[in-house]
Amino acid sequence: MANLQYKRLLVKLSGEALMGRQDFGIDPAMVLKVAGELKVLQQAGVELGIVVGGGNIFRGAGLAEAGVDRVTGDHMGMLATVMNALAIKDSLLKLGLQASVMSGLNMPEVCDLYTQREARSRIGAGEILIFAAGTGSPYFTTDTGASLRAIEIQAELMIKATKVDGIYNKDPVKHADAVKYDHLNYDQAIDQRLAVMDVAAMILCNDNALDMVVCDINEPGALLNLAKGQSIGTRVTRKEVEK
Ligand code: UDP
Repeated sequence: MANLQYKRLLVKLSGEALMGRQDFGIDPAMVLKVAGELKVLQQAGVELGIVVGGGNIFRGAGLAEAGVDRVTGDHMGMLATVMNALAIKDSLLKLGLQASVMSGLNMPEVCDLYTQREARSRIGAGEILIFAAGTGSPYFTTDTGASLRAIEIQAELMIKATKVDGIYNKDPVKHADAVKYDHLNYDQAIDQRLAVMDVAAMILCNDNALDMVVCDINEPGALLNLAKGQSIGTRVTRKEVEK
């Protein structure tokens, strides 16, 4: 077993992380690449829960702007996360790993319904568990779903794996002078309205003292190096309270 600082992780994959160079949908080659990174982690002895987004297919807020009823749009967004989860499971199984999908919405022919007890039991047995449909309720995001599941499965760290290598003071794609943070606390991220995660997700992490790291999914070995305790990307923690 590798020299690990963290034994149980929750990795949040945005839907866009599965698009590869496409503008929409799922790139199977990209999904296989991501699955390869998860395999390295799992084989090092890390217990893994994955929460996947759906923004590469549908987001409820975007659909609502286009005239779709918001709750219907959110249901469509959650169904998109289920498609992504199935694609990740398929790639993990192809790599010879044990993996299954648990969803916040009940669809027994497609995947299992989430329960905390079963989730903990599967992860503890070495299975990679992919959580689909976020919280299972409209008006939430999969970031909030990730924070919730991370706390429920007692993950020691949440990793938000995105297309950017950390949190910046402004969008690094649009601004060449954007500055990356190595460390922030949740209060700062909320006060400065940094586009890291929605506020509900950050409050949940803060209240439950769950640290989060934002890193680039395209950086080979980044997930394993984080599990070994290396400083990569941007770390967000609860504000130290002076005693
Ligand atoms: N969604 C929801 N409830 C949840 C999680 C997600 O209604 O608990 C819907 C929502 O419409 C959201 C979409 O699913 O926009 C896809 O999730 P998200 O936008 O978080 O995906 P990501 O940006 O991570 O790809």
